[in-house]
Amino acid sequence: MKKTIRDIDVRGKRTLVRCDFNVPMQDGRITDDTRITAALPTIRYLTDHGAKVILMSHMGRPKGEAKSEFSLEPVAVRLSQLLEKEVEFKSCPVVVCDTIKEMAGSLSDGEVMLLENVRFRKEETKNDPDFAKELASLGDVFVQEAFGTAHRAHASTAGVAEYLPAVSGFLIEKEVKFLGGAVEQPERPFAAIMGGAKVGDKIPVIENLLKKVDTLIVGGGMAYTFFKAMGLNIGTSILDEENVELAGQLLKKAEDNGVKFLLPVDVICADKFDNGAETVTVDRDSIPENMMGMDIGPRTVQLYREALKNVKTVVWNGPMGVFEMPNFAGGTRAVAEILAESQAITIIGGGDSAAAVEQFGLAEKMSHISTGGGASLEFLEGKTLPGIAVIEDK
Ligand code: ADP
Ligand code: MG
Repeated sequence: MKKTIRDIDVRGKRTLVRCDFNVPMQDGRITDDTRITAALPTIRYLTDHGAKVILMSHMGRPKGEAKSEFSLEPVAVRLSQLLEKEVEFKSCPVVVCDTIKEMAGSLSDGEVMLLENVRFRKEETKNDPDFAKELASLGDVFVQEAFGTAHRAHASTAGVAEYLPAVSGFLIEKEVKFLGGAVEQPERPFAAIMGGAKVGDKIPVIENLLKKVDTLIVGGGMAYTFFKAMGLNIGTSILDEENVELAGQLLKKAEDNGVKFLLPVDVICADKFDNGAETVTVDRDSIPENMMGMDIGPRTVQLYREALKNVKTVVWNGPMGVFEMPNFAGGTRAVAEILAESQAITIIGGGDSAAAVEQFGLAEKMSHISTGGGASLEFLEGKTLPGIAVIEDK
């Protein structure tokens, strides 16, 4: 178990909190503030308990230069509205300067300030120890609250913890509890559902999960690489040529490990990658030469529903079809509904899967929706995340 802000006395302490305020922006305006609102419970806990709060984050890819379009000023403004409290901010091109040190040093208990985009410094992504030290000099304690970058060893996500005691905020606590819990000691039966398009990225995850799960379900764009490995004709469906052999080995490994490995039994095919395309629903061994699989078929949904009936833990990563097109969203929606109705612990990882669940209005029905796509994949791969590793154990 990792230490959290509840395990230490924060009163009067300068708490340096690494948040994920990497929000989408358009013409200088924040178009979605979900990531800011997500951090509010941690920030409020700290201010309510008399901490002096110094927030930091990256936004976009300014590539080590102070570019005004990547300034965190709009975040400070929005955060201030949400907290109903002043959030001090000064745009410092080098992130830490004398003015910033003074501001941090003169904060009163319960006050909040935000540093400028840490990626204005090229040392950030290089995990440069001097920059980490500069950041650390502002605080007494480091609080990790950015899951989206926890798989990267950067100065503000990992390096800073060389110089300060490190604990987790509430977002990280929840990620570790659910993702860590699923990977380390899941309530069984444990099923994983993998889909989406990034086969190459996800094969290592499947490899690791095969050692843990009772049932593995593969749908979405990933399925066709497995079909190919099985010698099936996949028409013009999405294929990861490089990983066909590995897919075949994974099928074999599943058998050796006694894991139930389910692939679609029928697919909805389209003559082109378009919502208005001509479609046919066929068994997986009858995909027409000139068509592509766009979604799982109704018999597959039934098969998955049966397989998920008595599970106690489910991890889902990757949509079952091209859900962005309404005519091919049915499979993803069906799986989302199955999980929403399930009594199991349901964990959603992956940006597009999370977006799909939100779009269907089922987010509240899931136990946990991970906030970090890449980070959650690495967690499921069984890798050590540098930003989590630095947090002290209880
Ligand atoms: P996540 O972000 O949840 O990890 P990915 O990024 O791996 O998921 O994949 C999501 C993308 O996969 C979506 O844009 C979706 O349209 C695409 N996809 C799903 N099924 C198919 C398919 N059969 N053919 C092509 N693309 C697909
Ligand atoms: Mg994605």
